[in-house]
Amino acid sequence: MSSAETSRNSAVAAQLRSLLNSGRLVHAFLFVGTKDIRLQTGNDLARAILCETPEDGGACGTCPSCRKFDHGNHEDFLYLDLETAPGSAKTQIGVDAVEHLQEQLKLKPFGKRHVVLIEEAHLLNTAAQNKLLKTLEEPAGDSVLILLAEKKDALLPTVVSRCSTYFLEDGGFEADEAIVAVARDFFRLFAEKSLFYHKRDCVKSILEEKNDPRGKALCFLQAFQLLSRDALLSPYGAQNSPLSADWALFGELCDKIDQQAADRAISAADAAIRSVRAGYNTGYTLKKLCLDLT
Ligand SMILES: [Zn+2]
Repeated sequence: MSSAETSRNSAVAAQLRSLLNSGRLVHAFLFVGTKDIRLQTGNDLARAILCETPEDGGACGTCPSCRKFDHGNHEDFLYLDLETAPGSAKTQIGVDAVEHLQEQLKLKPFGKRHVVLIEEAHLLNTAAQNKLLKTLEEPAGDSVLILLAEKKDALLPTVVSRCSTYFLEDGGFEADEAIVAVARDFFRLFAEKSLFYHKRDCVKSILEEKNDPRGKALCFLQAFQLLSRDALLSPYGAQNSPLSADWALFGELCDKIDQQAADRAISAADAAIRSVRAGYNTGYTLKKLCLDLT
Protein backbone atom coordinates (compact mmCIF):
# COMPACT_ATOMS: atom_id res chain seq x y z
CA MET A 1 0.00 0.00 0.00
CA SER A 2 1.29 3.44 -0.75
CA SER A 3 1.02 6.13 1.86
CA ALA A 4 -2.22 7.95 1.24
CA GLU A 5 -1.62 10.74 3.69
CA THR A 6 -2.66 13.97 2.05
CA SER A 7 -0.56 17.09 2.03
CA ARG A 8 -3.00 18.82 4.34
CA ASN A 9 -2.76 16.06 6.94
CA SER A 10 1.02 16.12 6.63
CA ALA A 11 0.93 19.84 7.27
CA VAL A 12 -1.27 19.30 10.34
CA ALA A 13 1.09 16.59 11.60
CA ALA A 14 4.09 18.90 11.09
CA GLN A 15 2.34 21.73 12.96
CA LEU A 16 1.53 19.41 15.86
CA ARG A 17 5.10 18.11 15.96
CA SER A 18 6.56 21.61 16.15
CA LEU A 19 4.00 22.51 18.82
CA LEU A 20 5.05 19.51 20.90
CA ASN A 21 8.73 20.30 20.30
CA SER A 22 8.25 23.86 21.52
CA GLY A 23 6.72 22.60 24.77
CA ARG A 24 4.00 25.26 24.48
CA LEU A 25 1.09 22.91 24.47
CA VAL A 26 -2.42 24.28 24.12
CA HIS A 27 -5.08 22.79 26.38
CA ALA A 28 -7.69 21.87 23.80
CA PHE A 29 -7.65 20.59 20.26
CA LEU A 30 -10.46 19.95 17.84
CA PHE A 31 -9.90 17.67 14.86
CA VAL A 32 -12.62 17.70 12.25
CA GLY A 33 -12.76 14.91 9.71
CA THR A 34 -13.96 11.41 8.93
CA LYS A 35 -13.79 8.77 11.64
CA ASP A 36 -10.60 6.91 10.77
CA ILE A 37 -8.43 9.89 10.04
CA ARG A 38 -9.55 11.95 13.04
CA LEU A 39 -9.10 8.98 15.39
CA GLN A 40 -5.65 8.30 13.99
CA THR A 41 -4.64 11.94 14.41
CA GLY A 42 -6.15 12.23 17.90
CA ASN A 43 -4.59 8.98 19.10
CA ASP A 44 -1.17 9.90 17.66
CA LEU A 45 -1.27 13.25 19.42
CA ALA A 46 -2.41 11.75 22.74
CA ARG A 47 0.36 9.14 22.54
CA ALA A 48 2.96 11.80 21.75
CA ILE A 49 1.82 14.10 24.59
CA LEU A 50 1.97 11.26 27.10
CA CYS A 51 5.31 9.89 25.84
CA GLU A 52 8.13 10.19 28.39
CA THR A 53 10.91 10.53 25.82
CA PRO A 54 9.35 12.08 22.70
CA GLU A 55 11.48 12.24 19.58
CA ASP A 56 11.02 15.09 17.15
CA GLY A 57 7.59 15.89 18.58
CA GLY A 58 6.34 12.33 18.13
CA ALA A 59 6.01 9.39 20.51
CA CYS A 60 9.11 7.22 20.92
CA GLY A 61 7.07 4.00 20.88
CA THR A 62 9.27 2.26 23.44
CA CYS A 63 9.02 4.10 26.81
CA PRO A 64 6.74 2.71 29.55
CA SER A 65 4.11 5.34 28.73
CA CYS A 66 4.03 4.45 25.02
CA ARG A 67 3.84 0.77 25.89
CA LYS A 68 0.91 1.34 28.24
CA PHE A 69 -0.82 3.50 25.64
CA ASP A 70 -0.36 0.84 22.97
CA HIS A 71 -1.78 -1.80 25.28
CA GLY A 72 -4.79 0.32 26.09
CA ASN A 73 -4.10 0.66 29.80
CA HIS A 74 -2.57 4.11 30.24
CA GLU A 75 -3.86 5.51 33.55
CA ASP A 76 -3.72 9.13 32.40
CA PHE A 77 -5.53 8.58 29.10
CA LEU A 78 -9.28 9.13 29.30
CA TYR A 79 -11.50 8.18 26.36
CA LEU A 80 -15.12 9.04 25.75
CA ASP A 81 -17.45 8.29 22.86
CA LEU A 82 -21.14 7.53 22.44
CA GLU A 83 -20.74 3.84 23.24
CA THR A 84 -18.55 4.25 26.32
CA ALA A 85 -20.44 7.28 27.69
CA PRO A 86 -21.99 6.33 31.05
CA GLY A 87 -25.75 6.72 31.18
CA SER A 88 -26.01 8.41 27.82
CA ALA A 89 -28.96 8.09 25.51
CA LYS A 90 -28.28 6.04 22.39
CA THR A 91 -28.09 8.98 20.02
CA GLN A 92 -26.19 11.64 21.93
CA ILE A 93 -23.59 12.06 24.64
CA GLY A 94 -25.26 13.64 27.65
CA VAL A 95 -24.21 15.88 30.49
CA ASP A 96 -23.68 12.92 32.85
CA ALA A 97 -20.82 11.66 30.68
CA VAL A 98 -19.07 15.02 30.88
CA GLU A 99 -19.63 15.18 34.64
CA HIS A 100 -18.09 11.73 34.99
CA LEU A 101 -15.09 12.92 32.99
CA GLN A 102 -14.71 15.99 35.18
CA GLU A 103 -14.72 13.79 38.28
CA GLN A 104 -11.89 11.73 36.80
CA LEU A 105 -9.95 14.90 35.99
CA LYS A 106 -10.10 15.97 39.62
CA LEU A 107 -7.87 13.03 40.51
CA LYS A 108 -4.13 13.57 40.39
CA PRO A 109 -2.59 12.10 37.22
CA PHE A 110 0.03 9.35 37.56
CA GLY A 111 2.36 11.22 35.23
CA LYS A 112 2.49 14.88 34.25
CA ARG A 113 -1.04 15.25 32.96
CA HIS A 114 -4.29 13.66 31.84
CA VAL A 115 -5.03 13.48 28.15
CA VAL A 116 -8.72 13.25 27.25
CA LEU A 117 -9.93 12.05 23.87
CA ILE A 118 -13.57 12.77 23.11
CA GLU A 119 -14.58 10.95 19.94
CA GLU A 120 -17.92 11.87 18.32
CA ALA A 121 -17.83 15.28 20.01
CA HIS A 122 -20.50 16.30 17.49
CA LEU A 123 -22.85 14.01 19.44
CA LEU A 124 -22.41 15.92 22.71
CA ASN A 125 -25.78 17.52 23.40
CA THR A 126 -26.05 21.21 24.25
CA ALA A 127 -26.10 20.67 28.02
CA ALA A 128 -23.03 18.44 27.77
CA GLN A 129 -21.19 21.02 25.67
CA ASN A 130 -22.03 23.78 28.12
CA LYS A 131 -20.76 21.60 30.92
CA LEU A 132 -17.57 20.87 28.99
CA LEU A 133 -17.02 24.58 28.52
CA LYS A 134 -16.00 24.89 32.15
CA THR A 135 -13.20 22.34 31.65
CA LEU A 136 -12.11 24.12 28.47
CA GLU A 137 -11.99 27.46 30.28
CA GLU A 138 -10.29 26.18 33.41
CA PRO A 139 -8.42 22.98 32.53
CA ALA A 140 -7.52 20.76 35.47
CA GLY A 141 -3.75 20.94 35.95
CA ASP A 142 -1.89 20.52 32.67
CA SER A 143 -4.57 18.28 31.20
CA VAL A 144 -5.12 18.31 27.44
CA LEU A 145 -8.48 17.76 25.79
CA ILE A 146 -8.70 16.43 22.26
CA LEU A 147 -12.11 16.66 20.61
CA LEU A 148 -12.83 14.68 17.47
CA ALA A 149 -15.84 15.58 15.36
CA GLU A 150 -17.50 14.82 12.06
CA LYS A 151 -18.41 18.48 11.54
CA LYS A 152 -17.62 21.70 13.31
CA ASP A 153 -21.16 23.11 13.02
CA ALA A 154 -22.51 20.58 15.52
CA LEU A 155 -20.43 22.24 18.24
CA LEU A 156 -21.28 25.46 20.06
CA PRO A 157 -19.21 28.46 18.88
CA THR A 158 -18.12 28.94 22.49
CA VAL A 159 -16.67 25.41 22.52
CA VAL A 160 -14.95 25.78 19.15
CA SER A 161 -13.42 29.12 20.12
CA ARG A 162 -11.65 27.48 23.07
CA CYS A 163 -10.02 24.85 20.85
CA SER A 164 -7.15 24.88 18.46
CA THR A 165 -9.02 23.55 15.42
CA TYR A 166 -7.66 21.47 12.54
CA PHE A 167 -9.51 20.21 9.49
CA LEU A 168 -8.38 16.84 8.23
CA GLU A 169 -8.75 15.21 4.86
CA ASP A 170 -9.73 11.62 4.46
CA GLY A 171 -6.54 9.91 3.46
CA GLY A 172 -8.29 6.67 2.57
CA PHE A 173 -7.19 3.28 3.74
CA GLU A 174 -3.58 2.74 4.65
CA ALA A 175 -1.90 -0.52 5.60
CA ASP A 176 1.38 -2.24 5.12
CA GLU A 177 1.68 -5.38 3.01
CA ALA A 178 2.13 -7.68 6.00
CA ILE A 179 -1.16 -6.61 7.58
CA VAL A 180 -3.03 -6.81 4.29
CA ALA A 181 -1.69 -10.36 3.91
CA VAL A 182 -3.01 -11.33 7.35
CA ALA A 183 -6.39 -9.69 6.66
CA ARG A 184 -6.72 -11.54 3.35
CA ASP A 185 -5.78 -14.82 4.99
CA PHE A 186 -8.30 -14.19 7.75
CA PHE A 187 -10.97 -13.37 5.16
CA ARG A 188 -10.17 -16.64 3.34
CA LEU A 189 -10.54 -18.63 6.59
CA PHE A 190 -13.85 -16.90 7.27
CA ALA A 191 -15.12 -17.61 3.75
CA GLU A 192 -14.05 -21.24 4.00
CA LYS A 193 -15.70 -21.56 7.42
CA SER A 194 -12.50 -22.71 9.05
CA LEU A 195 -12.25 -23.72 12.68
CA PHE A 196 -11.68 -21.24 15.48
CA TYR A 197 -8.06 -22.16 16.10
CA HIS A 198 -7.11 -21.64 12.44
CA LYS A 199 -8.40 -18.10 12.70
CA ARG A 200 -6.71 -17.56 16.04
CA ASP A 201 -3.38 -18.76 14.61
CA CYS A 202 -3.86 -16.41 11.70
CA VAL A 203 -4.11 -13.28 13.89
CA LYS A 204 -1.26 -14.43 16.13
CA SER A 205 1.38 -12.36 14.32
CA ILE A 206 -0.63 -9.21 15.04
CA LEU A 207 -0.90 -10.03 18.73
CA GLU A 208 2.86 -10.55 18.87
CA GLU A 209 3.58 -7.08 17.45
CA LYS A 210 5.90 -5.20 19.79
CA ASN A 211 5.54 -1.80 18.19
CA ASP A 212 2.03 -0.28 18.35
CA PRO A 213 -0.01 -3.53 18.57
CA ARG A 214 -3.25 -1.56 18.91
CA GLY A 215 -2.55 0.40 15.76
CA LYS A 216 -1.68 -2.80 13.90
CA ALA A 217 -4.81 -4.53 15.22
CA LEU A 218 -6.97 -1.60 14.09
CA CYS A 219 -5.38 -1.68 10.67
CA PHE A 220 -5.99 -5.42 10.39
CA LEU A 221 -9.63 -5.02 11.47
CA GLN A 222 -10.24 -2.20 9.00
CA ALA A 223 -8.69 -4.26 6.21
CA PHE A 224 -10.84 -7.28 7.06
CA GLN A 225 -13.94 -5.07 7.24
CA LEU A 226 -13.11 -3.51 3.88
CA LEU A 227 -12.77 -6.97 2.32
CA SER A 228 -16.14 -7.97 3.80
CA ARG A 229 -17.72 -4.78 2.40
CA ASP A 230 -16.21 -5.57 -0.97
CA ALA A 231 -17.70 -9.06 -0.73
CA LEU A 232 -21.12 -7.55 -0.08
CA LEU A 233 -20.79 -5.38 -3.17
CA SER A 234 -19.08 -8.00 -5.29
CA PRO A 235 -18.63 -8.16 -8.22
CA TYR A 236 -19.32 -4.43 -8.79
CA GLY A 237 -17.92 -2.76 -5.70
CA ALA A 238 -14.65 -4.58 -5.55
CA GLN A 239 -13.34 -3.23 -8.83
CA ASN A 240 -11.65 -0.17 -7.36
CA SER A 241 -10.95 -1.55 -3.93
CA PRO A 242 -7.33 -1.26 -2.77
CA LEU A 243 -7.55 -4.67 -1.12
CA SER A 244 -9.61 -6.93 -3.35
CA ALA A 245 -9.25 -5.57 -6.88
CA ASP A 246 -5.87 -7.19 -7.54
CA TRP A 247 -6.42 -10.28 -5.41
CA ALA A 248 -6.95 -13.25 -7.69
CA LEU A 249 -8.60 -15.46 -5.06
CA PHE A 250 -11.19 -12.86 -4.03
CA GLY A 251 -13.96 -13.70 -6.52
CA GLU A 252 -13.77 -17.38 -5.70
CA LEU A 253 -14.02 -16.66 -1.95
CA CYS A 254 -16.96 -14.31 -2.47
CA ASP A 255 -18.91 -17.18 -4.01
CA LYS A 256 -18.69 -18.92 -0.63
CA ILE A 257 -20.11 -15.93 1.29
CA ASP A 258 -23.74 -14.87 1.21
CA GLN A 259 -25.01 -11.41 2.09
CA GLN A 260 -25.90 -12.44 5.62
CA ALA A 261 -22.38 -13.72 6.30
CA ALA A 262 -20.81 -10.58 4.86
CA ASP A 263 -23.10 -8.45 7.07
CA ARG A 264 -22.09 -10.51 10.07
CA ALA A 265 -18.38 -10.02 9.33
CA ILE A 266 -18.82 -6.26 8.91
CA SER A 267 -20.67 -5.93 12.25
CA ALA A 268 -18.21 -8.18 14.09
CA ALA A 269 -15.28 -6.14 12.74
CA ASP A 270 -17.09 -2.95 13.71
CA ALA A 271 -17.58 -4.16 17.28
CA ALA A 272 -13.91 -5.18 17.49
CA ILE A 273 -12.75 -1.80 16.13
CA ARG A 274 -14.83 -0.03 18.78
CA SER A 275 -13.43 -2.26 21.52
CA VAL A 276 -9.81 -1.64 20.53
CA ARG A 277 -10.43 2.10 20.26
CA ALA A 278 -12.14 2.15 23.64
CA GLY A 279 -9.02 0.58 25.13
CA TYR A 280 -10.13 -3.03 25.64
CA ASN A 281 -7.45 -5.69 25.55
CA THR A 282 -6.39 -6.29 21.94
CA GLY A 283 -5.72 -10.02 22.39
CA TYR A 284 -9.11 -10.61 23.96
CA THR A 285 -10.85 -8.55 21.28
CA LEU A 286 -9.26 -10.44 18.39
CA LYS A 287 -9.98 -13.82 19.99
CA LYS A 288 -13.59 -12.78 20.46
CA LEU A 289 -13.71 -11.84 16.78
CA CYS A 290 -12.46 -15.31 15.86
CA LEU A 291 -15.15 -16.87 18.04
CA ASP A 292 -17.90 -14.58 16.74
CA LEU A 293 -17.08 -15.52 13.17
CA THR A 294 -16.86 -19.27 13.71
ZN1 LIG B 1 7.39 7.07 24.49
